[in-house]
Amino acid sequence: MEYYSGQINKLIEELSRLPGIGAKSAQRLAFHIINMPAEQVETLANTIKTAKSTVQYCKSCYTLTDQEFCPICRNTSRNKRMIMVVENPRDLVAYEKTQKYDGVYHVLHGAISPMLGIGPSDIRLKELILRLQGDVDEVIIATNSSLEGETTAMYISKLIKPTGIKVTRIASGVPVGGDLEYIDEVTLLRALEGRTEL
Ligand code: ZN
Repeated sequence: MEYYSGQINKLIEELSRLPGIGAKSAQRLAFHIINMPAEQVETLANTIKTAKSTVQYCKSCYTLTDQEFCPICRNTSRNKRMIMVVENPRDLVAYEKTQKYDGVYHVLHGAISPMLGIGPSDIRLKELILRLQGDVDEVIIATNSSLEGETTAMYISKLIKPTGIKVTRIASGVPVGGDLEYIDEVTLLRALEGRTEL
């Protein structure tokens, strides 16, 4: 049964497509938006559109940025010979917050998962291998400690080993299956400092 008018239903439907937004939250948000001043709704809609049209992948590390290269890759004081491999931009932010890592990153945008049908060619692995043709001393694999994260770490380490570049894995202590972004900075630092060579 349709309780609301067509346009409200449409808005609720669109909002409920967003991750973490259930039917109830979608309704609450829809009514909130309807009650917002028109210019505020305009700003919100425009901000979404502008972000979508300007945000792109950094040409070096593949994190999201609104310029050709992200601020970390543009920063000349960062150590470009040390690359930390993470699954997504949120993990990168988690490590940046520790303010103790001065290398650069490589964002895979996912992890290998045979169960979900995600193979090595579905993540930014080829791009990582290309980067290794430059001067690189160490690749730190900081994928999550989930099954997918571990599978990805093993796969990458096997790929890099023949090049002679040092490959390390952050220490566990990071809870199994735990998303990196939810782990506090002290734990992240300990994981980074306790990394072991693969
Ligand atoms: Zn970058």
